[in-house]
Amino acid sequence: MSRFWSPVVKGLTPYVPGEQPKLQNLVKLNTNENPYGPSPAVLAAVRDAIGDSLRLYPDPNADALKDTLAAYHDVARNEIFVGNGSDEVLAFVFQALLQHGAPVLFPDVTYSFYPVYCGLYGIDFVKVPLNEAMEINPEDFRQPSGGIIFPNPNAPTGIGMAAATVEQILVDHPDTVVVVDEAYVDFGGESVIPLVKRYPNLLVVQTLSKSRSLAGLRVGFAIGHPDLVEALDRVKNSFNSYPLDRLALAGAVAAYQDDAYFRQTRRAIIASRDTLVAQMRELGFEVLPSQANFIFARHPREDALQLAQGLRERSVIVRHFRQPRIDQFLRITVGTDQECAALIAALHDILGAASAA
Ligand SMILES: *Cc1c(COP(=O)(O)O)cnc(C)c1O
Repeated sequence: MSRFWSPVVKGLTPYVPGEQPKLQNLVKLNTNENPYGPSPAVLAAVRDAIGDSLRLYPDPNADALKDTLAAYHDVARNEIFVGNGSDEVLAFVFQALLQHGAPVLFPDVTYSFYPVYCGLYGIDFVKVPLNEAMEINPEDFRQPSGGIIFPNPNAPTGIGMAAATVEQILVDHPDTVVVVDEAYVDFGGESVIPLVKRYPNLLVVQTLSKSRSLAGLRVGFAIGHPDLVEALDRVKNSFNSYPLDRLALAGAVAAYQDDAYFRQTRRAIIASRDTLVAQMRELGFEVLPSQANFIFARHPREDALQLAQGLRERSVIVRHFRQPRIDQFLRITVGTDQECAALIAALHDILGAASAA
């Protein structure tokens, strides 16, 4: 704390991202990155973007990327907003669309950045408890609010909701903005982008960080009614005209052009996930049904934090949250089959030692 800090800064509780360890040779299953590199076409496009043109500002409207996304998702250019990772898009969403003097609703177990944005902008929020099965129950959101936001599939549970269930929430709240954070939708979930045309209160947020292997490039976007997009543009253009640099714009367009690579890596991760879930259950873990590139699991006898520490001693890093309801769970990113095998071997080792003790 410093006397030079503004009162707002003194009151902030920032988000703590998963660790990015400097050590080599770790099996890194803690931040839901894609274990496969970006498409070779993306690398080539980024390389091609390196040159004299870097002296020039990038396109402030990102029209080439918006046109690519518009064709891919069958929407219009003015229904798309792009930003520096979906975290930035979400930051703009809270300020532009969820600040209405009434509390924002989100699940009690969800992406822990949402309360941080509320803190930044001074927005009240109410946490709506997931049901016993750790699912979102649309009826529990039937209360007055200044906006609703949830990931689908939810994080860190990995549990997805059918599009028809999301639609129920949209029907229930025609006068409220409903934001669906689809960071993990490509791993088996059902996108509600096709509902945007019918629900002017729906905003869908996606990212290239997970399913497109581009966490390091920082590209995210939102799709919704042009009025919602205009609100986001107004905030963005009051903050930073060029959130996406030339390399990011080039790489992001190329990522959508190589659909075969996307399908192939996604298929591999889903197959690895299915194997991993079966192996974890054999080890006695309870594993929630995942539609994401991570699993959420707990052991009936072993303490989650101790398991995480035991894994770390064996060079495997997973995520543990010291939070009510989920402090006995581990969130484990689906890696390559080799990385998953290293995880399972380490757990065998730990659990074998535990049962022998
Ligand atoms: C990873 C993640 C994001 C943020 O992704 P960016 O890398 O900022 O695009 C947003 N929402 C959820 C639920 C996530 O897990």
